[in-house]
Amino acid sequence: MSSTEQTLSIIKPDAVERNLDREIKEIFNTNGFKIFKEKKIQITKAEAEQFYKVHETKPFYNDLCDYLSSGPIVVMILEKENAVLANRELMGATNPKDAKEGTIRKKFGISIDKNSVHGSDSVENAKIEINFFFKD
Ligand code: UDP
Ligand code: MG
Repeated sequence: MSSTEQTLSIIKPDAVERNLDREIKEIFNTNGFKIFKEKKIQITKAEAEQFYKVHETKPFYNDLCDYLSSGPIVVMILEKENAVLANRELMGATNPKDAKEGTIRKKFGISIDKNSVHGSDSVENAKIEINFFFKD
């Protein structure tokens, strides 16, 4: 039995700023993802700190939270079979330099911090992240 799974995707400020959101959404569609919900928002630094709390001890945490709250983002619930893993594969490695050909980060990522997209890393975290942005 296969079943549809949900994952949270974010088009980050560097990509929205370059007007890449339409093109990135098209890539999700072409790769069989359904965009179940989406909204364009700007979050506060405090919200970014909460979202990335898992990274609070990392040296890049403060810059990361400044960055994610620096401009508009597009948050989406993506649906597909094995959506969490499929989205991680389509995104590519965290550092665009290491990302494979054909991945979103390879195509659009600028640097390890400005890597254009976020994707949940497990089904459990996908639920938490979806609830964070779409609890209403
Ligand atoms: N990040 C960074 N410097 C690093 C590692 C990560 O700025 O050395 C940023 C980057 O934007 C990344 C985010 O922190 O997407 C979250 O890091 P994670 O290891 O969870 O990578 P991801 O799951 O996004 O691939
Ligand atoms: Mg992560």
